[in-house]
Amino acid sequence: MCGVFGVLAPGADAAPVAALGLFALQHRGQESAGVAVSDGEQLMLYKDLGLVAQVLDERRLPSLRGPLAIAHCRYSTTGSTVWENAQPTFRLGRSRALAVGHNGNLVNTRELLGRLSGGRARLPATTDTELLTALIADEPASDTVEALRRVLPSLRGAYSLVVLDERRVIGVRDPDGFRPLVLGRLPRDNPGSREGGWLLSSETAGIEVVGGEVVRDVEPGEMVVLEAGSEPRSVRFAEARDHLCVFELIYFARPDSYLLGRNLYEARRRMGVALAGELPVAADLVMPVPDTGAPAAAGFAEASGLPYREGMVRNRYAGRTFIQPSQAMRQRGVTVKLSPLREVVRDRRLIVVDDSIVRGTTTRQIVALLRRAGAREVHLRISSPPIHHPCFYGIDTQIETELIAATHDVEQIRAFVGADSLGYLSIEGVLSALELPYDRFCFACFDGNYPVPVPYDTRNRKLMLEEPIAATAVGPGDG
Ligand code: AMP
Repeated sequence: MCGVFGVLAPGADAAPVAALGLFALQHRGQESAGVAVSDGEQLMLYKDLGLVAQVLDERRLPSLRGPLAIAHCRYSTTGSTVWENAQPTFRLGRSRALAVGHNGNLVNTRELLGRLSGGRARLPATTDTELLTALIADEPASDTVEALRRVLPSLRGAYSLVVLDERRVIGVRDPDGFRPLVLGRLPRDNPGSREGGWLLSSETAGIEVVGGEVVRDVEPGEMVVLEAGSEPRSVRFAEARDHLCVFELIYFARPDSYLLGRNLYEARRRMGVALAGELPVAADLVMPVPDTGAPAAAGFAEASGLPYREGMVRNRYAGRTFIQPSQAMRQRGVTVKLSPLREVVRDRRLIVVDDSIVRGTTTRQIVALLRRAGAREVHLRISSPPIHHPCFYGIDTQIETELIAATHDVEQIRAFVGADSLGYLSIEGVLSALELPYDRFCFACFDGNYPVPVPYDTRNRKLMLEEPIAATAVGPGDG
């Protein structure tokens, strides 16, 4: 996942705007947060492990002065949640300083490492982002835009970037457009900046939260350069191949965000309608797994004519945090996050709607919790197809053996999670809800059709990390 945000606010300080925008993207990454600013001459960076509001608090922000800023919140894919791997990255290049925030994951990291003079020893951290920052900084080019133009074509995989040098904020989207990135405008006389300005955000919700107006998507294969005194400049570095991650629309992005012109609450509600059409079942009520299952459950209830109820409450403060839960908390499992509403579920036949099953372990606990609360029948309906294949473009599902649908058929999964029935929405059902063609998306986790080939050494990411640092190894990317 990961969230990125960029701000150009002439005559104002950009860091508070960037921090607020990043706060709206907190759901995309909860392990670390950071902001890099420029006052026109010098870059300054602050990053730490923790949530956005913990890291970028009111004590820290006033010291980060300047009208240009980028910000990042991180969701890594494997263990290394360490300070060094927090972003933005920072590096002094040949003629300039550089900071980068990255959402996505490269698939030719090993090959790229071979191009870095000095190799792995020069990298202060173990992410693909650190490597690409070094490659850009090393490039003997007249400016950052030119350096990017030379380096970007050698990258393979997923990257939505915000890049900062002394005088520019640059938004970059890989040719497939796996991860979203939006350009926005900050109107004049807004609280963040009297002269107005320009914004970049992973999601439209970030633009709106800071009082901006959404202008357009950064196109796949495009760089958008923000500089004081001029309109955003578009630089194409590759031909566009549209393959936005469909899981962004199903689960990741906020329901109030828009992708490809679709509001995601509406899109998910329609997936629920399609799911009810494909897999109806007799029951007393429809309930979501909160929070992300709610729009699809609403659609399912509407289409089936059954009442919609909330059968569980979610602790609002239970998110993923960088703090390892204590053993006692871990043993409590899903009950730390979710509690059943006995009055709603007791003696009832439930249709329980969720957006996805990844490993199946949470789902199994949810079914058990509902049964303990007295549910008579539990019929699970999932508003996405089974996840058969790992993702190498920025989601934490790289390890095939951990995906329950990679090794079990639907009936076996039903038995494992303990439901009375289980049904998944088809790929056609997802597309009918979105009213967009298959070619616009990456469906690799569902059908194994990877738009960018993934080298075998990248597939086995777990082993890659176990090798001694000197031998390989740039560590897990950022999602
Ligand atoms: P499980 O049964 O353990 O596979 O968990 C399924 C739940 O995980 C569903 O409620 C999903 O909304 C949620 N989920 C899906 N993808 C992710 C992800 N990448 N990170 C965290 N939770 C996810």
